[in-house]
Amino acid sequence: MTSSALVVPFATNGEHERAVHRALKERVEEAGQAAPRILYQRFDEFNATFFRGALKPAVILLTPTSPRAFGDYSETDLHGLKSRIRIAPHVWSKRGELFAADVLLHEMVHGFCHEILNDGEPGYRGHGQRFASKCNDIGTTLGLAEVFPNTKKNRELGRPNCAQWPHCVRGKNFYGQEDIERPKKPKAESKDDTALQETIARLVDQLRHSEEVIRSTLKANGDMLLACLTEEDDDDDELDCDAILAAYPELDVQTVELDKLHQEIGALLREVAPR
Ligand SMILES: [Zn+2]
Repeated sequence: MTSSALVVPFATNGEHERAVHRALKERVEEAGQAAPRILYQRFDEFNATFFRGALKPAVILLTPTSPRAFGDYSETDLHGLKSRIRIAPHVWSKRGELFAADVLLHEMVHGFCHEILNDGEPGYRGHGQRFASKCNDIGTTLGLAEVFPNTKKNRELGRPNCAQWPHCVRGKNFYGQEDIERPKKPKAESKDDTALQETIARLVDQLRHSEEVIRSTLKANGDMLLACLTEEDDDDDELDCDAILAAYPELDVQTVELDKLHQEIGALLREVAPR
């Protein structure tokens, strides 16, 4: 016999809201691979150290995000899951554990703004004054430089942007893995401008190739794809875009490649420019 008495307590006690979170964490701990297990551990550590344990359990998934985002946070996703954090698998496999943990920490600050401050700062696409302030609170503990809200003025002034925190204020060699995977570049002690210029020229060629692949894919596949690529990472309807973008794996590869190349070229130019 079914009776409403069986249903009502479950539906009203609020516990069910995080039941999936607890079950998933348990399953990851007993059978998950190293990457998700470590990320779940880091979540608990970060929560205790930087948020006084105030964040509620999150669903943490290593799963594709929008191609231009390392990760994202959703207060409530399409399935009704609260506090869902996604981290792109390539972040872990190509950039390493430290980088992925920093992506997690970034998304946890979004969680803090939504869950504790009740202000996701949609006007700043999540990266306003409140977000920046929390980054800077944590940054003080970690010895990181100050970051600023993602405003046009701050961007024009070239101030470190909280939308890229904490990666943008980490030391040059903080992420060892990322450095290992970079193509060979002229040694720092060699001040040979010609070699550096040649390397930059080669990287720029690769960059043009990646851009060309992206451009031609966009051209051939129209506005729908473009809308997905330019979509903000916190949008609620992003799952549709995931499906669409999954049909174009090369686009994802080249977008990641493009991002890496931009960073490499930027680093090399900084090496050459100030003498
Ligand atoms: Zn963000």
